[in-house]
Amino acid sequence: MAVHTVASSTSSTVDLGPAAALSCRECGHRVPLGPVFACEECFGPLEVAYDFSAYDTDTLRKRIEAGPASIWRYAPLLPVPEDVADKPNLNPGWTRLVKADRLAAELGVTGGLYVKDDSGNPTHSFKDRVVAQALEAARAFGFTTLSCSSTGNLAGAVGAAAARAGLRSCVFIPHDLEQGKVVMAAVYGGDLVGIEGTYDDVNRFCSELIGDPAGEGWGFVNVNLRPYYAEGSKTLAYEICEQLGWRLPDQIVVPIASGSQLTKVDKGLRELIELGLVEDKPYKIFGAQAAGCSPVSTAFKAGHDVVRPQKPDTIAKSLAIGNPADGPYVLDIARRTGGAVEDVTDEQIVDAIKLLARTEGVFAETAGGVTVGVTRKLIENGQLDPSKTTVVLNTGDGLKTLDAVAGTGLTATIRPTLDSFREAGLA
Ligand SMILES: *Cc1c(COP(=O)(O)O)cnc(C)c1O
Ligand SMILES: [Zn+2]
Repeated sequence: MAVHTVASSTSSTVDLGPAAALSCRECGHRVPLGPVFACEECFGPLEVAYDFSAYDTDTLRKRIEAGPASIWRYAPLLPVPEDVADKPNLNPGWTRLVKADRLAAELGVTGGLYVKDDSGNPTHSFKDRVVAQALEAARAFGFTTLSCSSTGNLAGAVGAAAARAGLRSCVFIPHDLEQGKVVMAAVYGGDLVGIEGTYDDVNRFCSELIGDPAGEGWGFVNVNLRPYYAEGSKTLAYEICEQLGWRLPDQIVVPIASGSQLTKVDKGLRELIELGLVEDKPYKIFGAQAAGCSPVSTAFKAGHDVVRPQKPDTIAKSLAIGNPADGPYVLDIARRTGGAVEDVTDEQIVDAIKLLARTEGVFAETAGGVTVGVTRKLIENGQLDPSKTTVVLNTGDGLKTLDAVAGTGLTATIRPTLDSFREAGLA
């Protein structure tokens, strides 16, 4: 694959802002910036390492606050060129942090409860944050096709980002996804390929394609561009803290699919502490899964360090990764911070979607039902402290998973007369 060799051997010309190198999360081995994702020494996952040494805290804070109302206000902390906001991209992020007082009352939270509502992103899920980073890496490495394996939301985010940037896209999904997600992925005009198998089969297929001439010049956002892609989740942590007035929350509940988002939320919080942008204090990170795909919570509860793969069977399809790449790191973070990983049944997910909608007017996709449901369960278990500031992530829009609440509908059907209205008991 000529393009890979060229890219990694000329990394000094790659401008990805403060990104200095890739470093192995297992052994620390460093390699130049390039479209690689596994350590050549130990096969561990590579992640972006930065040089933040030039930053002065006050100058950085002012620069961020004066920045655009998108993730690009944090460009100095991301693997992107400084002028990223001027290039055609979806400018995601800076979504609302909803102070959820009515939900708090229902759940018995007294310390302040917030919902970080990422349904407000351009393609209505958190995935726009991560794809925006991968897009910049793809540009830097000269890729002409943007691709991914997806549980649904990523497909739409990649299709839209590629359309806006003028790149070709070709994305791969399990063939039996929700209709809303298929349409949302297809409408941007790229190629959308259904694979007969689970997400894990799709992922395996993509890994094969990367090694094949057919995949040459392709940037797979969550495979060969994964180190860059993953950094986008740090922006959730940045935004939450800035929106809280440059304060760390005490507790944060994050959904787990591959586990990438959770590990990078932690990385983002630690960076803010190291940069002096927030006061250093303990925080707890909680992971949320669906019972029908709960490899990480099962390992957490059993006290295991390894995550045994499962075959997913849940309505929370956006989280249905049975063999989560970052599972062991999630376990580390939950244990190190004093958090936990918990799961809820499909029925509890639906109840939680309705609870959030009824109390706060926020219509979450199933992943949001998972985090809200898990928050409720963690409070009942005594693992989440209701007297502390708590942030729950809603990472997607309920319109994408209408089937989950299909039983919800009309209160009554009446004739267009007042009598009929009264007869229905609605007066
Ligand atoms: C992808 C996704 C996540 C998190 O995915 P990770 O692989 O754990 O980073 C969470 N919520 C939604 C709605 C998603 O689409
Ligand atoms: Zn290594």
